[in-house]
Amino acid sequence: MAVTYELIKVCKQSGARLGRVHTPHGVIETPAFMPVGTQATVKTMSPEELKGMDAHIILSNTYHLWLRPGHELIQKAGGLHKFMNWDRPILTDSGGFQVFSLSNMRKIKEEGVEFRSHLNGDRLFLSPEKAMEIQNALGSDIMMAFDECPPYPAEYEYIKNSLERTTRWAERCLKAHARPEDQGLFAIVQGGMHADLRRQSAADLTSLDFPGYAIGGLSVGEPKHLMYEVLEETVPLLPDNKPRYLMGVGSPDALLEGSIRGIDMFDCVLPTRIARNGTTMTSEGRVNIRNAKYAEDFGPLDPKCSCYTCVNYSRAYLRHLIKADETFGIRLTSYHNLHFLLEMMRGVRQAIMEDRLLDFRDEFFTMYGLHDNDKGF
Ligand SMILES: [Zn+2]
Repeated sequence: MAVTYELIKVCKQSGARLGRVHTPHGVIETPAFMPVGTQATVKTMSPEELKGMDAHIILSNTYHLWLRPGHELIQKAGGLHKFMNWDRPILTDSGGFQVFSLSNMRKIKEEGVEFRSHLNGDRLFLSPEKAMEIQNALGSDIMMAFDECPPYPAEYEYIKNSLERTTRWAERCLKAHARPEDQGLFAIVQGGMHADLRRQSAADLTSLDFPGYAIGGLSVGEPKHLMYEVLEETVPLLPDNKPRYLMGVGSPDALLEGSIRGIDMFDCVLPTRIARNGTTMTSEGRVNIRNAKYAEDFGPLDPKCSCYTCVNYSRAYLRHLIKADETFGIRLTSYHNLHFLLEMMRGVRQAIMEDRLLDFRDEFFTMYGLHDNDKGF
């Protein structure tokens, strides 16, 4: 099998898992946060910088790379790793989420989804087979099955029909997957906020024996307590010997709460997206560097941080760069935010090792200024 999971230990205090995901391009220490590189680049960061902050894996988006520059071109270049000069693991999504959320005029059929390109309006068709063809050409270590992520809220019947189709699509993905020996295909459990539908989806998909399982359809606008309830229902239904990936989640509190509920992998555009308008995550909580009070603050962005940005530059300088729309400012805030989350996940893994993840969470929330009724980024 191309992708395997090794459980190292379970935190006695929280139940969180410390583990390793083995892939053809190396090992991912889990729980892990995966920076997102939509267009075969984590915006403004070089692969060397990502390695410098110890990113074990990045995520890239099938939909975007299919439309531009095209998966055949990337295949000609020797695959996505070679094309973007990243020799560590890569996970690609199936393109489904973008097609369902970004594209206008989409039409869902049993066969697949018809939609128009957001770039030039071309009529395109994405199916389980096409999603596999594209990801096989990209050569990612972990591929995602083609699924529908229903909006929140949605009618019960709609979610039920959708998840049953997602299971049929997952079976078609398994059949169409041309490189199972060097690419691991993960299935995506859907079912909205309904425990019975989550059970149905998990039972159907685990019977097909994928190398890993994702939980989709969360972090789509529902209150966080509901997301945690769904995780508590769903995670125990997944096999212990396979990695578990919670899609689209990347706020510090959700990474901690997800890890506590047995999740191994997370991804989110949050740290790089907010960095572009000057919002940063620090050991003193959230800091928007555009704020006037930092105009003459010559101290580091985060006094407790050892990243390149915090060691070398002041809040006043970062504020100036971001306000002047300078790319270097975005690079510096992006670097810090990614470093902050990756460092936090190192802390999570250490705390699991020491059986004290609940204590770690409480200390983190106090430090970050999060309270029980105020859990959100
Ligand atoms: Zn920093």
